Amino acid sequence: MALNAPLLHRHQQGGWIEVITGVMFSGKSEELMRRVRRSLIAGRRVQAFKSHLDDRYRGRYEVSSHDGSGLAAIPVSTSREIAERTPPGIQVVAIDEAQFLDLGIVPVVNAMADRGIRVILSGTDMDFRGEPFGPIPALLAVAEQVDKLHAICVRCGELATRNQRLIDGEPAPAEGPTIQVGGSESYEARCRGCHQVPGTQRAQTSLLDEAPPGS
Ligand code: ADP
Ligand code: ZN
Repeated sequence: MALNAPLLHRHQQGGWIEVITGVMFSGKSEELMRRVRRSLIAGRRVQAFKSHLDDRYRGRYEVSSHDGSGLAAIPVSTSREIAERTPPGIQVVAIDEAQFLDLGIVPVVNAMADRGIRVILSGTDMDFRGEPFGPIPALLAVAEQVDKLHAICVRCGELATRNQRLIDGEPAPAEGPTIQVGGSESYEARCRGCHQVPGTQRAQTSLLDEAPPGS
């Protein structure tokens, strides 16, 4: 499903923030690249970034348009690098894998939007436990437009919303690190019902166990 260009586009001369989120394999990067490609076709000056933890995906982020123009994403580790490496006069900034960035990305993209830049971010919204991931919740709050994409659950074929971490083919326990660099783990897209996190007892607990006292 191709998502429409933001409705705001027609009415708003200034900048804004778009977030493309959802589970792994839901097509976030494809959608980000589609929007970048269309910005290039429109003749906009575009800078793309990708937060990088390892080299696994090197080479995937060259975006080209039919008229021959193109650009490669700059790998970055921090929000500061994004601020430093955005040249003056840029009209569109695209940031992939934003979940790995620090919270400083929120004021950086807000400042860009305030200066008239269209900022497009993509990132997964939950970690392997199903908890909100890094700066994504805050980015969703400040964005003008949010699109939450789904993948297909590899277990049951329903819509997948959750990232299943596997170690040697088995569901990974909750106590593992949120970000595992260069690990031997793998990931699957799964629905809520098929998502497994040993060490949590979601379905067995009373709802009252989940509600903090006094809330
Ligand atoms: P994301 O950036 O959200 O991780 P990508 O844009 O990299 O997603 O990849 C999306 C592509 O992954 C789909 O177009 C499809 O070809 C492929 N894919 C692999 N596994 C699945 C799955 N379980 N559900 C949907 N698409 C999948
Ligand atoms: Zn399922």
